[in-house]
Amino acid sequence: MAFPNPIPCRPMRTTRPALILALLTGFAGTAFAWSNHAMVSYRALERMPELSVQVAAEPLEAFLKNEDKAIEALLRDDEDWARKAVDTYPPLPPQLAYRADPSKSDAQRRKDFLAALRVSPESRLALYVQPDPWGPAPDPARLLAPTKVNALEKSEEANHVFLRIDPGEMVPALAVVASASDEPDYGMDLNLWSDSNSEAGKTYGFGPIPFGNPTLSFSTQAPFHMGFFHEPAIIYKAAPFLKRTYPLLRVHQYTSLARLAFDTGHPYWGWRFTGLAMHYVQDLTQPYHASVSPGNSAVRLIGINALAMVGLPKWKNDMIVLLSNRHLAMENYESALIRTAAKTRTPSVLGATLHDTSLDAGYPAWSERYVRDVVSKEAYDAGAATDRSLVRTLPARYVSDPGFDFGMHSASIDLIKELSAIDPAQRAHLDTRIAELLGHYGAHSRALVRSMLDGRPTQ
Ligand SMILES: [Zn+2]
Repeated sequence: MAFPNPIPCRPMRTTRPALILALLTGFAGTAFAWSNHAMVSYRALERMPELSVQVAAEPLEAFLKNEDKAIEALLRDDEDWARKAVDTYPPLPPQLAYRADPSKSDAQRRKDFLAALRVSPESRLALYVQPDPWGPAPDPARLLAPTKVNALEKSEEANHVFLRIDPGEMVPALAVVASASDEPDYGMDLNLWSDSNSEAGKTYGFGPIPFGNPTLSFSTQAPFHMGFFHEPAIIYKAAPFLKRTYPLLRVHQYTSLARLAFDTGHPYWGWRFTGLAMHYVQDLTQPYHASVSPGNSAVRLIGINALAMVGLPKWKNDMIVLLSNRHLAMENYESALIRTAAKTRTPSVLGATLHDTSLDAGYPAWSERYVRDVVSKEAYDAGAATDRSLVRTLPARYVSDPGFDFGMHSASIDLIKELSAIDPAQRAHLDTRIAELLGHYGAHSRALVRSMLDGRPTQ
């Protein structure tokens, strides 16, 4: 991802504890977490018998029309839940509440649904899959233009392959879930804040962006794809806006829709919504999405902030760049490992770790608290060690030189090649760490799938 870092923050906000804000604006431009979730999800879920079924594709409009009344009731319940369960929840403006009405046009119903969820009106939610790169070569006649699926104007994901599926066509549940697990990065959470340059932002009631630059479209999705639930209390005291992150809201919205879809005989949408929810669960397995600054103590953050406030910003600025560079370097390396294994069709340690179910039973049962208490806590706890591994293994220029901007050069950096020249034991340190994190990614993705099926037939 070639986003310039650090992203400048709004002048009015520099009066707040500037370091923490600046750290966030520094990595708010890197909110992809695991690059191309679909490729990783295929490996994590490929051996689940629950997903070997085929389901009939159904356009969103058909699902909404058939279940209009049930959706109205469900979204009302979701709103009650959110007001009680989500810290700092901004209530849904009453005029956005979903109302069933058989006389509405399909287009109007779809528009109202997106507004009631408070996701981008640009969200495509098209009928498509990303094919498994380990599967047969895709039929060129089925290729879809990226803009039909992805609302991002200048997508970093332009090399994704999207294939059209037709209404009624049977598709593997695995392909539906894996494909949808990448979809929230296609612009669904962009420009939703009152200071975003968008109509939706002005009416959605989310308030001003808690961190990041509201005018840089891509950074506006970060507060939905990151969650800071386990920082020391002093950090929230210094920067209360850190509590305004909403991945748990998205998980609840999409899992409750998935359950409704399964219960009312729409398994395609059951799996599609499951995949959408899965994205946020997976994002929170990434240490740089679950902590403000992995590897830096609260005391250090506040100390460096104090220096910045008395006119010595060097340490602050350096830290922003290093944090962003390490975050990006990890994603670059992980995604290269996954891509290379697929390209050469070589079974890899990462692939094996991803579908290894041996640790699944060791986690607590899925619950309302699972994503916060298990998934993001585990990633938060892994933060310092992950940061250390990156520093120890990757070339110092990429992870320890504040004069280097990894984001600007990411596309031309081949970490697999560079690391092949170093001591294998040193490389193994980072490989083991990444495998461990992807093991968590796999286990929690499967836990979500199983929680959706609790007591339900698979089709
Ligand atoms: Zn994301």
